[in-house]
Amino acid sequence: MKALSLTAEWAPKAGYDLTAAERAIRRARNGNMVWKAPQLNLVDAPDPSLQPDQVMLEIAAVGICGSDMHMYEAGADGYMLYPGLVCTPNILGHEFAGRVIEVGKAVKDLHVGDLVAVEEIQWCGLCNACRRGFVNHCLDIEELGFTIPGAMAQYLPVRARYCWKLDEVAERYGEAEALVMGAMVEPTGVSYQGLFNRLRNWQPGNNVVIFGAGPIGLAAQALVIAAGAGQVITFDPSASRRAVADAMGASISLDPSAIDLDAAILQHTFGRGVDYVVECAGFADKTIEKLDRCLAVNASIIDIGMGADNPTMPIVAYKRMGVQYAGSLGHAGGPFQQVIRMMAAGRIDMRQMVSARLPLSDGVTAFKRLESRQDAKIILMPNAG
Ligand SMILES: [Zn+2]
Ligand SMILES: [Zn+2]
Repeated sequence: MKALSLTAEWAPKAGYDLTAAERAIRRARNGNMVWKAPQLNLVDAPDPSLQPDQVMLEIAAVGICGSDMHMYEAGADGYMLYPGLVCTPNILGHEFAGRVIEVGKAVKDLHVGDLVAVEEIQWCGLCNACRRGFVNHCLDIEELGFTIPGAMAQYLPVRARYCWKLDEVAERYGEAEALVMGAMVEPTGVSYQGLFNRLRNWQPGNNVVIFGAGPIGLAAQALVIAAGAGQVITFDPSASRRAVADAMGASISLDPSAIDLDAAILQHTFGRGVDYVVECAGFADKTIEKLDRCLAVNASIIDIGMGADNPTMPIVAYKRMGVQYAGSLGHAGGPFQQVIRMMAAGRIDMRQMVSARLPLSDGVTAFKRLESRQDAKIILMPNAG
């Protein structure tokens, strides 16, 4: 089968403390400390085989994510930018939907022909974190498209317990569109997890600030609008991404580069300030660190964007205003079901952020095109045409 494969050179940086496990299986905890000169190629990979608890998917649609870009891109030192768990060589792709074409012997609830979206986080269900319900923080995690083969390929076997059916979306939009929307359940689930499952204090009418109008930020924007937000102010330096944010219903979108964030946020919330801040840019040191006077009493800050730099938080303001801060990671443990329902009910339509649908053969070109960060989301269609 055809697949997009990432290769890189194993070259641990001086001073990086490799664990025995990392050395043994070349599974870096911090990709950016170990993998050099990443390269992406379209390859002929062997057809995968099926385990009893898995279903075989024919992949219909797979999104290119910021994390994919950070595995593919190198910094000035030649090392991969992505700071998380990575193995190479590996097939990328973790935001996807497909059709079940074969069912393992032990699988009960899925059948040939079913359309599904799949959790990227392969939580174990047995570790202490999983048993306490924190599956996104599984201590024995595998990640599709990061540590094990992903969906930028024609076929992928996945365990049935990570699959969520898209039949209610197909009922409304037809199968072909449901599969494209299905590829956006994962990134939308990441935003859902941060907004509604971390502090659990969302209230309709909240004034919201969103940093970053990439897919996670745009998904957060769509979710808060559907959930009854007041003013929604979205910041992004890219004019084309701001245009998408506007088209998807932002009250206003602004370039954060050269403005006083406190003043702008106060102005656009009629002096009331912001109740919910959602960091989806990965630059907490340039975004939430700057917010002080604009924070409303009892404001919440949800930090989703993955950046390398640690911000210095204005904690005096947080105490004065009763602000709570929560980091958020992942999409497993429930968001998939809720996001699929919101899509099926027509409350959110993430297709609005898709700028191109391309065959897998154009995959490498698509990564190149995304280097400029002008597109929000490109979807690859591994079995199209
Ligand atoms: Zn992603
Ligand atoms: Zn676990």
